[in-house]
Amino acid sequence: MPDAFADLVGQDEAVATLRRAAAAAAAVLHTAGTRPPGDDGAASPGEGGAAPAEAGDPGAGMTHAWIFTGPPGSGRSVAARAFAAALQCVHGTGCGECPGCHTTLAGTHADVRLVVPEGLSIGVNEMRALVLRAASTPSGGRWQIVIIEDADRLTEAAGNALLKAVEEPPPRTVFLLCAPSTHPDDISVTIRSRCRVVPLRQPPPDAVAEVLVRRDGIAPDVARWAAAATQGHVGRARRLAGDPQSRARREAVLAVPRRLTGVGAAFDAASALIEAAVAEAAASVAEIDAAERAALETALGAGGTGRGAAGAARGAAGQLKELERRQKSRATRAQRDALDRALVDLAAFYRDALTTALGASVAPVHTDAVELTDAGARRWQPEGALRRLEAVLACRTAIEANVKPRIAVEAMMLALWKG
Ligand SMILES: [Zn+2]
Repeated sequence: MPDAFADLVGQDEAVATLRRAAAAAAAVLHTAGTRPPGDDGAASPGEGGAAPAEAGDPGAGMTHAWIFTGPPGSGRSVAARAFAAALQCVHGTGCGECPGCHTTLAGTHADVRLVVPEGLSIGVNEMRALVLRAASTPSGGRWQIVIIEDADRLTEAAGNALLKAVEEPPPRTVFLLCAPSTHPDDISVTIRSRCRVVPLRQPPPDAVAEVLVRRDGIAPDVARWAAAATQGHVGRARRLAGDPQSRARREAVLAVPRRLTGVGAAFDAASALIEAAVAEAAASVAEIDAAERAALETALGAGGTGRGAAGAARGAAGQLKELERRQKSRATRAQRDALDRALVDLAAFYRDALTTALGASVAPVHTDAVELTDAGARRWQPEGALRRLEAVLACRTAIEANVKPRIAVEAMMLALWKG
């Protein structure tokens, strides 16, 4: 059966919440009476809008602003789109088949705007224009919906423009924000306080494998392997299943334990891991960095000579500098993300060895490295496997606490070698 929520993998609780909210929203529209296009909508802010259904059952309410949070790969934007479809669904359920569902999921619904920051951050002008358009009457008679992917990349000024709209929402407008977490680094406390939060979890591997087979046409055995190896990260699982580079990177990480034959080898392994992360990150940001710079230079009209050109040039230099600063911080973040993915793979290797040494009946993460983890289990015993697992986790913690990655990784490699 088609269903707008079908691609939201392993998130039963969130889906139940969103279905209840969509039903409440449909009831609001029903009470207010759906109006033909062009009519100026139902009510002034506060009445006939979406808020009242919240009373009584906090689980059933419809609200004007939502934040979808969860670890990378958990499906934040998939959830936001599915919910938007359910809000626009003519049956109010997210049937997946009606024109409302279909156009929303296809990205062509006139009353659903998706903001995917092309550059590093969403600027204030873009946000003001968006807020203005979002206040207009929905042409389909249901809701005006704005989905903001990576809401953690709003500039402060853009955040303030959004906050105003979220504080006094037009009666038929719904904002759906996606962010890694509700930490103040990701989303401002004031916006957070106006939004309802839908936390998503890391989906279980079998649910991920199922969607890889159904949606991406990946062979079932490959899908199961990739879903297990990436521990339920949908996007990574899909890449691992189809991208040779991604496989090669993982294989290099899984080769680390058997390469640790001495102090020199430990330092070599540390360098290799760091350099692989730097290369992966550079490849991932190179294209967008260049595009952003070109776009900014075009926008600044490089090389004017008229009156005020000197002042404009000073402004341009400032903007270029700001862009470089933000690109550098994105590159750093990409490096840390790449390194962290490698550490997660490595931790899972020792975790597999530990569970084997303990004779625990749990499925391995690295189903294709069982021979190696079995050998590790025999050699290290549970205590040795646990110490190594802890060394990897300590390295992640240290990097999170801003220890220089190379220093943390070198310490880890030495600990892994010594056991
Ligand atoms: Zn529908």
